[in-house]
Amino acid sequence: MPRRLLRLENGECGTMKRFACGDVVAGCTWTMQVSDEADLMALIADHTAVAHGITTLDDELIAVVREHIQLVS
Ligand SMILES: [Zn+2]
Repeated sequence: MPRRLLRLENGECGTMKRFACGDVVAGCTWTMQVSDEADLMALIADHTAVAHGITTLDDELIAVVREHIQLVS
């Protein structure tokens, strides 16, 4: 019988993923922390388009961004 399963599925106890744009773009102070990596990549794409004029994240850039995603527990 499931007891605390629903709580766990809400992501309350999950690991957060954090990205600081300044790690890649010198001087930028934007940071984002969410539980889902796909959400994080989408938010990063929005930010780089608005703040840095980068409208397309190519494979190379995505790899750089992934390298700088920190896991926060
Ligand atoms: Zn930035």
